[in-house]
Amino acid sequence: RPAIVWFRDDLRVADNPALTAAASTGMPVLCVYVLDEESPGVRPPGGAARWWLHHSLESLDGDLRRLGARLSILRGPAEPTIADLIDQTDAGAIFWNRRYGEAERTVDERIKASARDRGLEASSFGASLLFEPWTIRTGSGTPFSVYTPFWRACLAEPEPRKPLPAPEKLRPYPVDDRIGIGLDDLDLLPRHPDWAAGLREAWTPGEASALDALTRFLADDVADYRRDRDTPGIAATSRLSPHLRWGELSPFTVWHATTAARSAANAEGAATFLSELGWREFAYHTLFRSPAMATENIRGEFDAFPWPRLHPAALRAWQQGRTGIPLVDAGMRELWRTGTMHNRVRMVVASFLTKNQLIDWRRGEQWFWDTLVDADPASNPFNWQWVAGSGADAAPYFRVFNPELQRTKFDPHGDYVRRWVPEWDTADYPEPIVDLGETRRAALAAYDVVKAAQ
Ligand code: FAD
Repeated sequence: RPAIVWFRDDLRVADNPALTAAASTGMPVLCVYVLDEESPGVRPPGGAARWWLHHSLESLDGDLRRLGARLSILRGPAEPTIADLIDQTDAGAIFWNRRYGEAERTVDERIKASARDRGLEASSFGASLLFEPWTIRTGSGTPFSVYTPFWRACLAEPEPRKPLPAPEKLRPYPVDDRIGIGLDDLDLLPRHPDWAAGLREAWTPGEASALDALTRFLADDVADYRRDRDTPGIAATSRLSPHLRWGELSPFTVWHATTAARSAANAEGAATFLSELGWREFAYHTLFRSPAMATENIRGEFDAFPWPRLHPAALRAWQQGRTGIPLVDAGMRELWRTGTMHNRVRMVVASFLTKNQLIDWRRGEQWFWDTLVDADPASNPFNWQWVAGSGADAAPYFRVFNPELQRTKFDPHGDYVRRWVPEWDTADYPEPIVDLGETRRAALAAYDVVKAAQ
């Protein structure tokens, strides 16, 4: 009878409590991944994320084989798919690491209940957040809605646990042809056309590459992180976000490697870097208490916002980086080519879409969901709502970024813009599609409706 390890957003062998627990049962271990695109409310990955997922699963399979096991791939709604697997293999136990979306939690609870009905041990573990959402509370016992006191409260908690080493060896469950399908059968890679060349150039998914990126960042960049992290022309940030999104790297590993590398020379950079991990935590805590935040305003008064009728051509100009605003176009082209965008520029393009183009933040969120390799069910809607003003601890709506001022401040020599918009400053570059001053005034007037609804 096998112990099943059900991998989800934790595609790693080190610091994987579910895998460690399964290994310690002494039962043969059956490792599975289920591509679930059907369970109600579970958001299927977008295009760039599917590319990442394919390579990450391939890499995980390689790592598991080195330990003596392998990864079996399944497809279908998780609940019946896992139940069938339990029956088919007469499994003795099932282990997984927790997820925090409401639909995912519902699926997990049902599977736990049905496993227990079948007499199986079913256990879940905290592995992708440093602080479980239900453990961090204000003095009056409510969840935090403001980041700074939230992170202060986290830092006052006992230090996050040490990461677990990868199991030395796994006793494999003999998998035959009746279990699972081939990775290629999931059809996660773009083929006709294959638009992933830029992704391949920019990234190497997988646990080993994630650890390399962390090591390199801590050796080379953390000291100047605080000073340089807002300059998109400099490669000053960790680029860990897709690795964290897919759980190739655990935040516990990042936390302890960072504190171990801390010195007088880099203390400020290290603290700022950990506080960014804090934003990731805060996004997940917000998802936990506002489960519909990918589609619904967190601040309900924003439901009154009078979004004008959508002009598809305006949305397309933004998506394709043809707005005539250099920093916006550079960011959108970086995104299309590489599956990522610098954080400062993400804020600028999101502000431009929602406030200068008056396009609903959900359109932007959806585009990012489809094009980012780090597209994350918590961080993506959280940050979109933060920029739009409708979110938790959001930027005030009336603070409209001026993308031209942002460019002169954060890309003063044009290094970033020229990299992605080589025709900038030539006759081929289009005029701005909107007047920044006029559209800003229109946005503020529209916001008056929200204020009146408060
Ligand atoms: P670093 O600067 O090295 O930061 C370290 C880690 O901290 C990141 O890897 C990430 O896990 C976390 N982090 C940093 N900033 C944030 C933040 N604002 N919110 C949450 N976590 C953060 N990040 C995602 O991981 N997935 C998303 O889908 C996503 N969508 C975004 C959408 C918008 C509109 C905006 C403004 C930001 C979004 N971010 C998202 C946050 C941020 O832009 C990226 O995490 C960051 O650019 C990744 O680069 P890095 O790994 O080099 O970051």
